[in-house]
Parts: sequence; C-alpha cells; structure tokens
Amino acid sequence: MSPATAIAFDNSYARELEGLYTASPLQPVPAAKLLKLNLALAEELGLDTASLMASAGVQMLAAAQAPQGAAPLAQAYAGHQFGGFSPQLGDGRALLLGEVIDRHGHRRDIAFKGSGRTAYSRGGDGKAALGPVLREYLMGEAMHALGVPTTRALAVVGTGEWVRRERPLPGAVLTRVAASHVRVGTFQYFAARGEHEKLQRLLNHVIARHDPALRDHPLPALGLLQAVAERQAALIARWMHLGFIHGVMNTDNMTVSGETIDYGPCAFMERYDPAMVFSSIDHGGRYAYANQPLIARWNLARLAESLLPLMGADADVAVAQAVAVIDAFPARYEHHWLAGARAKLGLQDAQVDDLALAHDWLQLLHTQGADFTLAWRRLADVAEAFDRAGASHAFSADATVPLQALLADPGAAQPWLARWWQRLQSAQGPAGTPAARAAAMRQVSPIYIPRNARVEEALTAASEASDYSPFEQLLAAVCQPFEEHADRVRLAEPAAQSFNDSYQTF
Ligand code: AMP
Ligand code: MG
Ligand code: MG
Repeated sequence: MSPATAIAFDNSYARELEGLYTASPLQPVPAAKLLKLNLALAEELGLDTASLMASAGVQMLAAAQAPQGAAPLAQAYAGHQFGGFSPQLGDGRALLLGEVIDRHGHRRDIAFKGSGRTAYSRGGDGKAALGPVLREYLMGEAMHALGVPTTRALAVVGTGEWVRRERPLPGAVLTRVAASHVRVGTFQYFAARGEHEKLQRLLNHVIARHDPALRDHPLPALGLLQAVAERQAALIARWMHLGFIHGVMNTDNMTVSGETIDYGPCAFMERYDPAMVFSSIDHGGRYAYANQPLIARWNLARLAESLLPLMGADADVAVAQAVAVIDAFPARYEHHWLAGARAKLGLQDAQVDDLALAHDWLQLLHTQGADFTLAWRRLADVAEAFDRAGASHAFSADATVPLQALLADPGAAQPWLARWWQRLQSAQGPAGTPAARAAAMRQVSPIYIPRNARVEEALTAASEASDYSPFEQLLAAVCQPFEEHADRVRLAEPAAQSFNDSYQTF
C-alpha cells in the first residue's frame, strides 16, 4: 500500500494486553487471488478499496504481508467445548492483524481466519478451505442484513494452496471484522491459570472498549457480567426469531461484545422443530435450536465463575451477586423474545396473553410441519387482507390460502387465526392500516434466508467450478432479506423434506 492509502491502525489489544497473546508473523502463500471484497464494509472501515485490490492489498488480505502499523498476534483463550473444559485453545488458525476506528468512531478488529499455524494450533494446520470461508462470508452478511449483531467478512482470498481435509480442498483466507474477538473463553483462560493480574487487565480493556460507563461502577466485573448477559439475551432472542441455529455454542464461540461469531456448522431451520440440529458432531443435541437460550445461560455462568476473583474481597457476597445475574437471565431473554414476537405478530401494544399467543402459533407450526420463515411471512399477508375481510369475518378465505398451504392440515390454522384477529381488534392505542401493519411485520420476518440447499449449491459451484454466479445471486438476496423480488422465487423455497432431514453441517 502506498503511504497515502495506509491503514491507520490503533492496536489496543497488542498495547494493553501483553502476555495475553503471542505475536505471530504473517506467512507467505503460493498464489494469492482476491475472490471477494466487501466494498460496503471496506468503506465503513474507512479503507481505500483500490489499494485493497492492488497487489500489496491482496497480499495483506491473504495474511501474507503485514502493512505498516499492523501488529499481528494470536489471542490466547480457553473454552468449554460441548461441556468439557479445554484450558488451551486460542487462535490456532486465526490472527488479529490490528484495530481501526471506523467511520462511526467504533473500534473494529481486522483479523484473519485460515492464516496458518500459530502457537495455539496444536495438531491443526492453521488453514481454512474455500467452501467454509465463503459460508462464513455469506452467513455473516445475511445476519448483518437481518439486523443481528455479528462479525462480518471483509474479504476472501484464495491462497493457491490445497488444504488437506477428507479430500484436498482449495485453501482460502477470510478477513473478519469484529467489534472485538474477546470471548467468554478469553476470561476463562486466565481465570483457570489463576493469573488474576492478566484477568484484571483484560477486564479493564473490555470495559474501556465495550462498556466505558462501567468505569464508575462500584464492581466493574459484576457490571460487565450484567452487560454481557443483557447483550446475549438480546442476541439469542434475535437468533430464535430467525430460526438460526449456531451449532457450536462453545464458550470460546461466545463474544463479550454480543456479536455472533464463528459461522461453522450453523444453519437456518426450515421446517419448524425446536429439537432441530444440523451439526454433524452435535450427537446429543446440546446445541439444538430450543437449547440455545439455556446454553447461553450456561456459558454466562462460566463467565461469572471466571470474573469472581475480580468481584470484591468477600467471596460469598460475590457469588451471590453473580448468581443473581445468571438467575435473571431467563427473564431478560424472555423480555427480548416477547418484544420480538410482538413485532412479528404485528402487535404494537402489550397484553398479558401475548406470550401464550406466540407460543401457540409456534406450536401450530411445529405440529403442522410448517416452514418457519415462510409461515411468518404469509402471516403478514393475512394481516394485510384484514381490511378486505370486513368486521364480521376474522379474515378472508383467499388471504389464508398461502399460509394454509404450508400446513399439513390446511384447516388447522383457523382457531389460532381467529384468536389472533381478536387480539388485533382489541389493541390499545392508534390502529394503523392493515397494509402498514403487514409492512411492519415484513420488516422483521424475512423472505430470504440462506437456505441450506441454496447455500450448498452456491458453495459447490464456487469452490469446485469457480462459478460464483449462484453465490452472488444468493448473497444479493440475503443482503436484502425483507424485500420480495419476482426473480428470486426459487431462493425463498424450502428444500424437500428429505433434503433437510438428512442435511448435516461441519
Ligand atoms: P472452532 O471450532 O473454529 O471454534 O475452533 C476451536 C479451536 O480449534 C480454536 O482454538 C481453533 O483455533 C482451533 N482450530 C480449528 N481448526 C483449526 C485448524 N485447521 N488448525 C489449527 N487450529 C484449529
Ligand atoms: Mg471458534
Ligand atoms: Mg469453527
């Protein structure tokens, strides 16, 4: 990069947290090729896109050559994986290149995934294959467009190398942007080693970065626990309303920033089933759809344990305070979930039976084997038709046909729809038009999600035939998830049941 377009790094992690990471030089790759650059994100970060596309920029995005001012490092972290504690994980195939302040004044990490071996690689090769890297790009951008806090992909660069998996696969490096990469597992690493001075510095760093108001808190560690619990409660509620299954909610895959991280075996559910699991290694269903809020709480309890040494001199008091935060999590989660459910149901006021109404709708989808995404979307269509129905009918028969077509028994929705209509009629406050209500519902219930069959199709074409057109088409659709387009009908269609029943992620 020419000095004129140099990146203004400000590497607070490297500066403040010596001893919590291992400085790691970048490593050359045989033949770097820029495959994907996220122009909107580059712009948001204040980066010069032309110089990112030039040779020095591509070398940087290949994690091959560090630009001026970068301080590449591998972060140490631990983590509970499927419930068992691994004291030493860390960036085994990732690197933090440095931090920048974006156009909104927010500090963002620029990091790599698939950048080669580090001090934390254990037996692994430190590399990533193109398919999973493109998957992370697509999923992260979809989540961002859906309004979910998430790490995002800045670029994908092919390395010109074959990585050895079950069969040789083309290698790639993902450039990942995050509010930070601090995980529950980062705190666990230093807590498990009894390194309380490092733990304290990590706490100070995280508070300065994510929760500066807590600097005046009498117990900043407790304040952070509360703040992280609140962010996670809001985050998981968002996931649940989109049918998103993370797939590997290990404590090293839970950020303190509240961003979704690590798009490995994640998938969006099609047919609604609370027990849904896609990950090939999740044999017990620990990370099944409906377990996600419970696992979030479990993970937060691990964060609480790690922060205890910083929560004041009286251990009994500290434990009681931390336990109170963890015990409050289900109610905080339900608060966020219910607010989201009301929006999806088109309810602008709050009534006591709303939770039951929402649960019974989901129960209907479950027993009827309905596609989760389309069912919500077709419910908005029914809402729009209310004006045509007239006051004496709950809904016009025509308007319910597309919704009914998603159900095993088309008539099964009638009692619930009648209840819902009653509820809408009894709403307090100004009643908008049915069209306005339907439009608002469509702003929270997408028509396009990265459907499993379409994702696989796009990744196969890109990584095996260098054909990026299915990937680009799918990416365009999921980046405008709420706007229905006549030429994107296929991208909204569920796969055959047999496909979803046997679909596995890795
Ligand atoms: P993940 O499943 O991506 O959350 O990774 C869990 C841990 O395994 C982290 O410490 C990773 O850095 C490490 N890891 C995963 N894949 C590799 C790899 N190919 N080489 C080295 N370390 C890896
Ligand atoms: Mg991970
Ligand atoms: Mg992973």
